[in-house]
Amino acid sequence: MDQLPALPLAILLFFVALVLFLLARRQQRQSGLPAGRVIYTDTQGWLRLEKPLYSSELNLTGKPDYLVEQQGQLIPVEVKSSRRVTAPYDAHINQLGAYCLLVESCYGKRPPYGILRYPDKTFAIDFSPELEDRVLFILQEMQSQVSSKNINRSHQSPERCAGCGYRHLCDQALRI
Ligand code: SF4
Repeated sequence: MDQLPALPLAILLFFVALVLFLLARRQQRQSGLPAGRVIYTDTQGWLRLEKPLYSSELNLTGKPDYLVEQQGQLIPVEVKSSRRVTAPYDAHINQLGAYCLLVESCYGKRPPYGILRYPDKTFAIDFSPELEDRVLFILQEMQSQVSSKNINRSHQSPERCAGCGYRHLCDQALRI
Protein backbone atom coordinates (compact mmCIF):
# COMPACT_ATOMS: atom_id res chain seq x y z
CA MET A 1 0.00 0.00 0.00
CA ASP A 2 1.20 3.50 -0.82
CA GLN A 3 2.31 5.52 2.19
CA LEU A 4 0.14 8.59 2.84
CA PRO A 5 2.27 11.74 3.04
CA ALA A 6 2.68 12.95 6.62
CA LEU A 7 0.83 16.28 6.26
CA PRO A 8 -2.41 14.98 4.64
CA LEU A 9 -2.43 12.13 7.18
CA ALA A 10 -2.16 14.62 10.04
CA ILE A 11 -5.00 16.68 8.53
CA LEU A 12 -7.13 13.53 8.12
CA LEU A 13 -6.51 12.53 11.75
CA PHE A 14 -7.36 16.04 12.87
CA PHE A 15 -10.73 15.87 11.10
CA VAL A 16 -11.47 12.39 12.47
CA ALA A 17 -10.75 13.67 15.99
CA LEU A 18 -12.91 16.75 15.35
CA VAL A 19 -15.86 14.65 14.13
CA LEU A 20 -15.57 12.32 17.15
CA PHE A 21 -15.45 15.31 19.48
CA LEU A 22 -18.54 16.89 17.88
CA LEU A 23 -20.43 13.60 18.00
CA ALA A 24 -19.61 13.21 21.71
CA ARG A 25 -20.79 16.81 22.33
CA ARG A 26 -24.01 16.22 20.41
CA GLN A 27 -24.72 13.01 22.30
CA GLN A 28 -24.13 14.86 25.56
CA ARG A 29 -26.53 17.66 24.59
CA GLN A 30 -29.21 15.14 23.57
CA SER A 31 -28.98 13.44 26.98
CA GLY A 32 -29.82 16.81 28.60
CA LEU A 33 -26.92 16.49 31.02
CA PRO A 34 -24.31 19.19 31.54
CA ALA A 35 -21.25 18.60 29.36
CA GLY A 36 -18.61 19.28 32.02
CA ARG A 37 -15.55 21.50 31.78
CA VAL A 38 -12.04 20.17 31.96
CA ILE A 39 -10.34 21.69 34.99
CA TYR A 40 -6.94 21.47 36.63
CA THR A 41 -7.13 20.82 40.32
CA ASP A 42 -4.82 20.71 43.25
CA THR A 43 -5.82 17.72 45.36
CA GLN A 44 -4.46 19.34 48.51
CA GLY A 45 -7.39 20.16 50.73
CA TRP A 46 -9.55 17.35 49.45
CA LEU A 47 -11.12 15.83 52.55
CA ARG A 48 -12.10 12.19 52.76
CA LEU A 49 -15.45 11.68 54.42
CA GLU A 50 -15.47 9.43 57.49
CA LYS A 51 -19.15 8.55 57.25
CA PRO A 52 -21.65 8.53 54.38
CA LEU A 53 -23.96 11.51 54.05
CA TYR A 54 -27.59 10.80 54.87
CA SER A 55 -30.67 12.84 54.11
CA SER A 56 -34.00 11.78 55.59
CA GLU A 57 -35.66 14.43 53.43
CA LEU A 58 -34.38 12.70 50.28
CA ASN A 59 -34.38 9.21 51.79
CA LEU A 60 -30.90 8.92 50.39
CA THR A 61 -27.46 8.01 51.60
CA GLY A 62 -24.18 8.21 49.73
CA LYS A 63 -20.49 8.88 50.12
CA PRO A 64 -18.60 11.04 47.66
CA ASP A 65 -14.90 10.19 47.60
CA TYR A 66 -13.94 13.67 48.79
CA LEU A 67 -15.38 17.02 49.77
CA VAL A 68 -13.43 20.14 48.97
CA GLU A 69 -14.10 23.63 50.30
CA GLN A 70 -13.74 26.34 47.65
CA GLN A 71 -14.66 29.96 48.32
CA GLY A 72 -17.09 29.02 51.05
CA GLN A 73 -18.72 26.29 48.96
CA LEU A 74 -18.58 22.55 49.57
CA ILE A 75 -17.87 20.64 46.37
CA PRO A 76 -18.30 16.84 46.15
CA VAL A 77 -15.60 14.94 44.26
CA GLU A 78 -16.00 11.49 42.75
CA VAL A 79 -12.97 9.57 41.50
CA LYS A 80 -13.37 7.09 38.63
CA SER A 81 -10.90 4.66 37.14
CA SER A 82 -12.07 4.80 33.46
CA ARG A 83 -9.19 5.81 31.21
CA ARG A 84 -9.08 7.89 28.03
CA VAL A 85 -12.54 9.43 28.52
CA THR A 86 -13.36 12.28 26.16
CA ALA A 87 -16.49 13.30 28.08
CA PRO A 88 -17.85 12.23 31.47
CA TYR A 89 -20.25 9.25 31.43
CA ASP A 90 -23.94 9.95 32.06
CA ALA A 91 -24.07 7.47 34.95
CA HIS A 92 -21.14 9.24 36.64
CA ILE A 93 -22.81 12.64 36.16
CA ASN A 94 -26.02 11.33 37.70
CA GLN A 95 -24.13 9.88 40.67
CA LEU A 96 -22.31 13.17 41.19
CA GLY A 97 -25.64 15.02 40.93
CA ALA A 98 -26.99 12.81 43.74
CA TYR A 99 -23.97 13.78 45.88
CA CYS A 100 -24.62 17.46 45.15
CA LEU A 101 -28.19 16.97 46.38
CA LEU A 102 -26.92 15.25 49.51
CA VAL A 103 -24.39 18.02 50.23
CA GLU A 104 -27.13 20.63 49.86
CA SER A 105 -29.48 18.71 52.12
CA CYS A 106 -26.87 17.88 54.79
CA TYR A 107 -24.96 21.20 54.92
CA GLY A 108 -27.61 23.66 53.76
CA LYS A 109 -25.36 24.93 50.95
CA ARG A 110 -25.98 24.20 47.31
CA PRO A 111 -22.78 23.21 45.50
CA PRO A 112 -22.57 25.14 42.22
CA TYR A 113 -20.83 22.13 40.67
CA GLY A 114 -19.25 18.79 41.47
CA ILE A 115 -15.97 17.30 40.30
CA LEU A 116 -15.48 14.05 38.39
CA ARG A 117 -11.88 12.94 38.38
CA TYR A 118 -10.66 10.35 35.87
CA PRO A 119 -7.03 9.20 35.74
CA ASP A 120 -6.16 11.54 32.89
CA LYS A 121 -8.82 14.26 33.02
CA THR A 122 -10.84 16.10 35.63
CA PHE A 123 -14.23 17.65 34.86
CA ALA A 124 -16.34 20.21 36.69
CA ILE A 125 -20.03 19.36 36.25
CA ASP A 126 -22.50 22.17 36.90
CA PHE A 127 -25.20 21.26 39.37
CA SER A 128 -27.86 22.76 37.13
CA PRO A 129 -31.63 22.67 37.78
CA GLU A 130 -31.83 20.19 34.85
CA LEU A 131 -29.36 17.83 36.51
CA GLU A 132 -31.20 18.18 39.82
CA ASP A 133 -34.55 17.35 38.17
CA ARG A 134 -33.06 14.36 36.42
CA VAL A 135 -31.51 12.97 39.60
CA LEU A 136 -34.73 13.51 41.57
CA PHE A 137 -36.65 11.67 38.85
CA ILE A 138 -34.20 8.73 38.94
CA LEU A 139 -34.38 8.62 42.75
CA GLN A 140 -38.15 8.61 42.68
CA GLU A 141 -38.15 5.75 40.17
CA MET A 142 -35.68 3.73 42.23
CA GLN A 143 -37.52 4.34 45.48
CA SER A 144 -40.87 3.37 43.99
CA GLN A 145 -39.30 0.15 42.65
CA VAL A 146 -37.86 -0.65 46.08
CA SER A 147 -41.14 0.01 47.89
CA SER A 148 -43.14 -1.98 45.34
CA LYS A 149 -44.24 -5.37 46.63
CA ASN A 150 -43.69 -7.04 43.27
CA ILE A 151 -40.10 -6.58 42.22
CA ASN A 152 -39.28 -9.05 39.52
CA ARG A 153 -35.94 -10.73 39.08
CA SER A 154 -33.97 -8.86 36.42
CA HIS A 155 -31.61 -11.68 35.37
CA GLN A 156 -31.39 -15.41 34.58
CA SER A 157 -28.17 -16.16 36.43
CA PRO A 158 -28.39 -19.00 39.03
CA GLU A 159 -24.79 -18.20 40.08
CA ARG A 160 -25.82 -14.69 41.02
CA CYS A 161 -28.66 -16.01 43.18
CA ALA A 162 -26.36 -18.59 44.78
CA GLY A 163 -24.12 -15.81 46.10
CA CYS A 164 -26.93 -13.42 47.03
CA GLY A 165 -27.39 -12.31 50.64
CA TYR A 166 -31.17 -12.03 50.18
CA ARG A 167 -31.63 -15.58 48.91
CA HIS A 168 -33.30 -16.75 52.12
CA LEU A 169 -35.94 -14.01 51.79
CA CYS A 170 -36.42 -14.13 48.03
CA ASP A 171 -39.21 -16.07 46.36
CA GLN A 172 -37.63 -15.68 42.90
CA ALA A 173 -34.23 -17.26 43.59
CA LEU A 174 -32.98 -19.53 40.80
CA ARG A 175 -31.70 -23.02 41.59
CA ILE A 176 -28.32 -24.17 40.33
S1 SF4 B 1 -31.86 -14.50 45.21
FE1 SF4 B 1 -33.49 -13.08 44.60
S2 SF4 B 1 -32.71 -11.06 45.16
FE2 SF4 B 1 -30.97 -12.45 45.13
S3 SF4 B 1 -30.10 -12.29 43.08
FE3 SF4 B 1 -31.55 -14.03 43.04
S4 SF4 B 1 -33.49 -13.10 42.38
FE4 SF4 B 1 -32.17 -11.40 43.00
